[in-house]
Amino acid sequence: MASKYQAPRGTFDVLPEEARNRARIERAAATILARAGYERIATPAFEDTELFERGVGRSTDIVRKEMFTFEDKGGRSITLRPEGTAPICRAYLEHGMHKLAQPVKLFYGGPFFRHERPQAGRYRQFHQLGAEAIGSDSPLADAELIALLFELLDELGVPGVELQLGSLGSPESRQAYLEELKAHLRAHQDDLSKDVRERIELNPLRAFDSDDEGTRVVMASAPTIVERLDGEDAEHFAEVRSLLDAAGIAYSIDPTLVRGLDYYTRTIFSFVCDRLGAQSEIGGGGRYDGLIEQLGGPPTPAVGWAAGIERIALALDEAVEAPGRDAFIAVAADEQRRRATTLAGELRHAGISAEVDLADRGLKGQLKHADRIGARRVVILEADGSAQLRDMASGEQRPVEAGRLADEIGSAP
Ligand code: AMP
Repeated sequence: MASKYQAPRGTFDVLPEEARNRARIERAAATILARAGYERIATPAFEDTELFERGVGRSTDIVRKEMFTFEDKGGRSITLRPEGTAPICRAYLEHGMHKLAQPVKLFYGGPFFRHERPQAGRYRQFHQLGAEAIGSDSPLADAELIALLFELLDELGVPGVELQLGSLGSPESRQAYLEELKAHLRAHQDDLSKDVRERIELNPLRAFDSDDEGTRVVMASAPTIVERLDGEDAEHFAEVRSLLDAAGIAYSIDPTLVRGLDYYTRTIFSFVCDRLGAQSEIGGGGRYDGLIEQLGGPPTPAVGWAAGIERIALALDEAVEAPGRDAFIAVAADEQRRRATTLAGELRHAGISAEVDLADRGLKGQLKHADRIGARRVVILEADGSAQLRDMASGEQRPVEAGRLADEIGSAP
């Protein structure tokens, strides 16, 4: 029955079986985050292109290569959101959230779009869950957010997860380090990939993320920012580590961690999972103390993370069982169909899942259908108005009073 139409490259349909998995992940996240005082926010699926150019950074892969950007009918440049933090900061400013009690703690979930080369765990439309605490520079906020993502992955039972931690320092203190790094890259430029070589001045940190063999060799001897942290940056990083130690959250320091967005300052972190192959990051984030100012707001420190729902589901690789149905209302005679519909409505109202035949099947066909959809009980409305209740597991069938059906079905195991 295949048609010539298929989901576009790098996208996928979430079929009911998969939707059940995802609902469990989303519920766990909502519960854990709500308990810590994070409130749900939703922003549009597209924004003015400039928001991402300014927020995410023109030198990043996301902005240079991966955005779905188009002109709307009014000639404005629009971009399908590639990430959630810049839009939330835009909303924070637009709605004057700096007047609320700080930090403003928010969480979100939804589709995001990046024009990447599709492969397992990497799609052009994917879904993220994310959390942000805006308006606090305390290491306690960093540690709280990391602990919440840790708790989510732990509660879901994601196997083989490791936390990598790094710090990028503040933009001012990073300057001297960046000069040192650029000098190292220039000194070895012949061994670097073209892409990295072209970005020595623009975005030297990205060299740490390169898959290119020559570049990797050069980066193995490169100075790292973690070694160069000093003053308040070093203190902040030490405090985050000490809070994680106190919470019993294991991590390793990765001095080469940079992450692909320009807005990060100080703490950055990444949860990787050994079940995911090449796309091993399941979630990550960091502090972005300069982003709100970058978007035209007052200096406002903030920290957050995002995790990929598809990657969590891939790592879990498990199926949540279909819910089945409490009852199917079958009819032995067509005159009973209206009554079946009324009865199903009453049962549903009482919190019992109930279905009726919508395909004009005979009684035998209805019983077969009830079995296929996993109905635990079948009510058979006879032509004379009496009713039978059949237990599908045991095959036992007995007469039942119509008025007592909700009670009888509701008490079924
Ligand atoms: P980022 O916004 O790049 O920090 O990514 C945060 C998380 O989103 C990653 O750890 C992944 O789990 C997920 N993610 C990012 N890009 C993709 C993609 N193209 N396909 C699927 N998941 C993604």
